[in-house]
This record gives sequence, C-alpha cells and structure tokens, in this order.
Amino acid sequence: MERMFLLGDEAVAQGALDSGISGAYAYPGTPSTEILEYVQRIAPASIHSRWSTNEKTALEAALGMSYAGKRALVSMKHVGLNVAADPFINAAISGANGGLLVAVADDPSMHSSQNEQDSRFYADFAGVPCLEPSDPQEAYDIVGYGFELSERYRIPVLVRLVTRLAHSRAPVERKKAREENGLRLPEDSRRFVLLPANARRNYSRLVELQDAFTAASEESRFNRLFPGADRTLGIIAAGLGYAYVRELYPDELPHPLLKISQYPLPREAVKELMESCDEVVVIEDGYPFIESRLRGLFGNPRVHGRLDGRLPRIGELTPEAVAAALGIEIKPAFAPGDLVAPRPPALCPGCPHADTFRALKEALGDRGRVFSDIGCYTLAALPPYEAVDTCIEMGASIGMAKGAADAGLHPAVAVIGDSTFTHSGITGLLDCVQEGTPVTVVILDNLTVAMTGGQPSQATDRLESICRGLGVDPDHIRVITPIGPRHEENVQVLREEIDHPGVSVVIARRECVQTAARRARRRAK
Ligand code: SF4
Repeated sequence: MERMFLLGDEAVAQGALDSGISGAYAYPGTPSTEILEYVQRIAPASIHSRWSTNEKTALEAALGMSYAGKRALVSMKHVGLNVAADPFINAAISGANGGLLVAVADDPSMHSSQNEQDSRFYADFAGVPCLEPSDPQEAYDIVGYGFELSERYRIPVLVRLVTRLAHSRAPVERKKAREENGLRLPEDSRRFVLLPANARRNYSRLVELQDAFTAASEESRFNRLFPGADRTLGIIAAGLGYAYVRELYPDELPHPLLKISQYPLPREAVKELMESCDEVVVIEDGYPFIESRLRGLFGNPRVHGRLDGRLPRIGELTPEAVAAALGIEIKPAFAPGDLVAPRPPALCPGCPHADTFRALKEALGDRGRVFSDIGCYTLAALPPYEAVDTCIEMGASIGMAKGAADAGLHPAVAVIGDSTFTHSGITGLLDCVQEGTPVTVVILDNLTVAMTGGQPSQATDRLESICRGLGVDPDHIRVITPIGPRHEENVQVLREEIDHPGVSVVIARRECVQTAARRARRRAK
C-alpha cells in the first residue's frame, strides 16, 4: 500500500477518509486545524467538509450525519470540546448510528491556548471510549478502529491527540479505502429523542456498556503489555508518552511496560503490571488521569508520576522529563544558540487591529475598561498597545462587558473578531440588546479567521445585517476603516458610540494583511 509522510493531524484525516466518512466538520483551533484543512485539500467534492460556526454546531452536524447512517468526523481543539460539551455528553446518551468520531487535540503547555485540559476526562465523564495514538501511523490506524468501535457499540468515540503528535510528521502506511455507508436511518427512532423516559432507558444502556468498553480495551491491539526483566519498576505509558519511552529504550526494555492507547483502562493488564512490579511510574501527557486512579484517594506510595513530582505537574511531556523520571541521563537534542533572542509575539506589521486599538485608546482616554476575546487581537494586551484588560474564552468579551456595565462600569467596551463573534459572541450581544445595556461592541472584521491561518469567516458580508437582526439600533451600527489616514474620523465615531447610553456596535473592517497577501500571490500565479 501507499506510504505517505503525514502530520498526526493529517493521519487522522487520511484515516477518516480511508474509513469511508461522508462528512467532516470542525471549527479551526490550534493544534487541530490541519485535520479539516487536509480533508478539504484531499477529499472529493462528494464528501461534505466545511468549517462550522463553532464546535457545538460542528458536533451536532456530525451527529446528524451519523443519525442518517453515515460515518462522520468532527475535530476541534481541547477548549472547543467545552463549547461542544452539551451535544457530546448527550450524544453519548443518544448513541451514534453511523460511525461518529470526535477528534480532539489537547494543548498541554498552552502553546496556543488559554488553559491545559485533558479530554480523556471528557470521554470518561460522557462514558464513551477514548483512543490515544502514540504516533502518526497509530493515529491513522486508530481512526479506522475507532469507526468500527463506534458502529459496533453505536456510540461516539473520542480520539485524543496532543500538540506534539498533532504536529509531528512521520511515514504512514495506508490501507485500502473503504466505501461510504449508504443512508440508513436508526431502527429505534426513540433513541435520538432524549425525552426523560427515553433518556433514562438510553442511559441504562450506556451504563451497561461500560463493561463491554473495558473488555474492548483489554482485547485492544492498541493496548499492550511488554515484558521486562527488572521488576523493581514497571512503566505505564499512554499515547505519545509511549513513543518517548521507546525512544529512551531503543533496543531492549529493561522494565515491564504497559502501553495504553485505549480507555477505559484495561483493568486486568494494569493489575498484572501493578502486582508484578515493586513500583510503577506513569508517563502520560496532560493531567494525571491514569496516575490519580492508581494512587486512589489516599495515595499509593508505589505509584509515581505527575502527582508526586517524578514528572513535572504542569506542561507537556518532553523526552528530557521522561528520561529524568526513569533515571536516564540524556543531553537535550539541541539547545538554542546565544544569538536566538526572546521574541514575544506581536501583531504583524500593517495589521488592521493596530489601527483600531490606537483609535480606541484615544477615544477612551483613561475611562472604562476593554474586554477582549480570543484571536490575534489578544496580543493587544502586550506592549506597545496594552489596550485590553481581559481575555477568557470565545465570546466572553461581550458577556463580561455586559456584566461590568450591569455593575455600573462605564464605558464597558467589548472587542471581538468577526469569526469569534459568530462563534459565540452573538448570544452575548442578544443579551445586551434584550436589556438595552450600555456597552459598545467593537467587531474587528478582518474578513477571515486569521489566528488559525485564514479560514473563511462565517460573518463575511453579513455583520451589519446580523447585528440589525439581533435588534441593535441601525443608527448605532457604525463601520470604520482602521487605517492611518482615517484615524481622527475613527476616534470620533468610537467616542460617539462609547457615549451612547445603550447598545452600540462599531465594525472595524479591513482585511488581515496576511490573507490579503496570500490572495494577491494566488492571483499573480
Ligand atoms: S495574522 Fe492578520 S489579523 Fe493576525 S496579527 Fe497578522 S495581520 Fe493581524
């Protein structure tokens, strides 16, 4: 079969395409963006693949495709699963029909995220199987297996990646591609109607399935117990942690090693390792998910990992940290040279947001606060701008500005990107309109999702009509062009709207210079 050189993300996408998906849905977010980008690059037009408004709508669409009997992939970053938590947990209750795979890329060390969180807990919370590949080949293989598992138990399956795996490239051997499923509606039509009586029945089924999920983990080819002569120590290594351990012991394993890539945990294999070794070290990326279970509420001095400091409690796993936990000395692969100066992230030269923030700062003077959101513009919190005061999660800028205005803070200004606005700002603005709250929402319309590489924004050409539709007074929906020569005019518009004692929206519209440059390059070809 064909060999390809794929990123972990791309291996997930290729695995899904070769597993016969009919659709792929996502909202862009580092480190998961490349999954849908790859599908869009490679898949035939017959396979539905579009960016969704947010992770919740993406998961709902994938569930709908699964309802119709076809296989669907939905992908997101870890914080996106918070947005999609409602349909995710409920899809575990309704179950799937066609295979439904939820690929979530966690970002330990917060390379491009507001938090570290571990999606294995979400799978555990929902009561669905979780698969955690250790390299791109396994990511490809595990996706095919995940669809089979999903259809065997009629349940969504979560595939968890971490940044290093999502963005590492390795050779991947492809299998023969499978045909798409035909349309096949669920035999039991009540299953997807989560009225309490049906939901209770479905929930019983989900609880009863837990033993079968554990049995599937016991038998899984992705979980494996390797022997080792020195039983003073046993190693449990999950996902990418397994790859790091194998790199440290390229020839022969000195200690017994249990590789975990499928959850719920395979109890028998864990028991066997625990009983045959004096001590156990758990190598896992993210939270101490396995370790906390093995230590129990009162601790178990034989179990080591992130909780007892054998590994750092926070941040992503590194080969160096794993080596130290196993008592092996290694040299760092390379150290940055003296010439590499620290370079804090900054808005690109010519970025339209820079002009908006300059105007906004002048319009505000030393009054009020600016509630910001998730996007390139968050960088305005740093020097030289220092123009925003908060950044919590997608859509929070408008909700927080509302709460601060409710508390009597004036001016309360929210800044939010065009795509973040459609992702989850719309509902916050609706709340403001409902109560006539005195907030000013500045929508930074750069006509793209810039931060993740320029995906299309659902808001392009629609912002004014969306705001009008939400009930914002059309006289207080103003559009400015954030560019140097318009500075005075823009400051004036912002001042007027900030002083308006009700809801006002200022749309600062100028294309991101990066997407504009890409478009110009494409045109020149
Ligand atoms: S990518 Fe675009 S929006 Fe983001 S900082 Fe650069 S120019 Fe500004």
